[in-house]
Amino acid sequence: MADGSWYDADIERVIISEQQIRDKIAELAKQVSADHADAADGVLLVCVLKGAVMFMADFARELGRLGPPSEMEFMAVSSYGQGTTSSGVVRILKDLDRDIAGRRVIVVEDIVDSGLTLSWLLKYLESRGAASIEVVALFRKPEAIKVPVEVRYVGFDIPSEFVVGYGLDFAERYREMPYVGVLKPEVYARS
Ligand code: 5GP
Repeated sequence: MADGSWYDADIERVIISEQQIRDKIAELAKQVSADHADAADGVLLVCVLKGAVMFMADFARELGRLGPPSEMEFMAVSSYGQGTTSSGVVRILKDLDRDIAGRRVIVVEDIVDSGLTLSWLLKYLESRGAASIEVVALFRKPEAIKVPVEVRYVGFDIPSEFVVGYGLDFAERYREMPYVGVLKPEVYARS
């Protein structure tokens, strides 16, 4: 951190630096590219808004350099749960714009916490007839997992703490931070 941006003052601890994120995305793109080199009609990246928006943009660019070609779809979902925990009951706020039948789908996720949202999403995509569905998640909290969900590509396993940055928000803020960190307690106290 520490290029003097406004958000630096609110961060107690950096969990993953900008450079670490950049290096990891290059590595993930290399793996996905190698595993899908034979995808004749490319892969369909499905981004779950809003948290995964930074990851989607950077990952798609890296994958683009290596191939296969990719297409992008965006979904927005909301959990019926209260507060900061997910209930697993999911409502679609924005659906896919087109048919995914027969496509190789790669879900681009920001973070897998309880796994409830992702588990619901995988069933939904399956019901829409995707040929295959895999998940690339930049972060995972192994201690928080409640339902087993297969994440083929994982960037970082992180402790079970609430983090912000690189797409992840607290009350819609901090998404633009280029690194991921934990907020100072006084930030919660003043909101
Ligand atoms: P799950 O259903 O796995 O419990 O929740 C997944 C979603 O909750 C993620 O896609 C993300 O939007 C949100 N989430 C989980 N952990 C965190 C966190 O530490 N910080 C933020 N800002 N969002 C989180």
